[in-house]
Amino acid sequence: MSTLSSAVTAPFDVEKLREDFPVLKQTIHGKPLVYLDSAATAQKPHAVIDAIRRFHEVDCANIHRGVHELSQRSTAAYEEARIKAKRFLNSRYTDELIFVRGTTEAVNLVSSSWGRKNVKSGDEIIVSAMEHHSNIVPWQMLCEETGAALRVIPMNEHGELLMEEYAKLLNPRTRMVAVTHVSNALGTINPVAEIIRMAHAAGALALIDGAQAAPHIKVDVQALDADFYAFSGHKVVGPTGIGILYGKLALLNSMPPYQGGGDMIKSVTFEKTIYNDLPYKFEAGTPNIAGGIGLGAALDYVMRVGVDQIAAHEHALLVYGTEALSQIPGLRLIGTAREKASVLSFVIEGLHPHDIGTVLDQMGIAVRTGHHCAQPVMDFFKVAATTRASLAFYNTFAEIDALATGIRKTKEVLT
Ligand code: PLP
Repeated sequence: MSTLSSAVTAPFDVEKLREDFPVLKQTIHGKPLVYLDSAATAQKPHAVIDAIRRFHEVDCANIHRGVHELSQRSTAAYEEARIKAKRFLNSRYTDELIFVRGTTEAVNLVSSSWGRKNVKSGDEIIVSAMEHHSNIVPWQMLCEETGAALRVIPMNEHGELLMEEYAKLLNPRTRMVAVTHVSNALGTINPVAEIIRMAHAAGALALIDGAQAAPHIKVDVQALDADFYAFSGHKVVGPTGIGILYGKLALLNSMPPYQGGGDMIKSVTFEKTIYNDLPYKFEAGTPNIAGGIGLGAALDYVMRVGVDQIAAHEHALLVYGTEALSQIPGLRLIGTAREKASVLSFVIEGLHPHDIGTVLDQMGIAVRTGHHCAQPVMDFFKVAATTRASLAFYNTFAEIDALATGIRKTKEVLT
């Protein structure tokens, strides 16, 4: 079966790439599926589906504990995925990559393990006005527990962070700056290298939520000098239930375990437990082995397609889509930052996003409606919800045309 039928050909051949994604070949309500919900979860290529199936059919065994052949094979495949993640993020050491359930767990791991050890009453944590709830709530919980305060970098009406306001928020009490690389609700690409540099200059650490960046733009954790970087496998054409937390080695070494159990120990007696070395110290219990292997296959796939090629194609789609949607009377784009990834979030005067999504679905067009787990963003733009079309490298210009036509028809149906 083709696992990467066209990925390395140039120029970018989206039609051939689409052959790698079986889910895209179906019709919905009698219409060809137009999948524009990749920010919620991306579709999976044969390479990922096959890797997961192969694990279950041929190599299935628990990892790290077995001397038998299957256990050694599954361990090797799982650890190989960690090495692929290292290449994907350009981290310095493999031990800096921790397998987690996803971005949400990664942030919780840091806020719990690093946070409880290092944050005390009177300290401050900075997040931004455009964070996903996953990068707000864990920090709020830490603040409630420790008496620290949460500070918020404001944004302008385009959905761009106000860097001069950020500079004012930084002070000797700042312990952590936790900011999204790309906003899921707005598409804004934040200047994270600068955000990290400023955090460090103030003596704080920086955690970057890369959930929406990893699928779309090149990430280099060393070039960024990020202290922590998190992303979810399922948004990078990998499976659900697996993701990566990158942390600088010295930091991870200095942090206590997040959860206790098997695999995260060297030895256990009732008197004392000696914790395992990195990365296992943070990986208690039997992990999502199939997910890890699937994630490895996904990262391989994305790297072979080429992150720069993906970014270029998606940018062209975004420019085309922005133009097409801007011409629709009554439609207002939410999120018009100069630096933007492939998200088209919008409202239409007099129409409820949920109704728009439902009518578009009847045309085979899958978009997401709601607050996108970013309620503060909705509050800022004074909307209850938006309709969001989010693009991936397997989307086409024809699909953008279908969306624009679909929105015009939806307006006719609903008004
Ligand atoms: N951060 C951002 C910017 C997101 O878009 C998402 C998911 O949509 C998350 C965090 C949470 O990711 P997950 O649910 O995979 O943990």
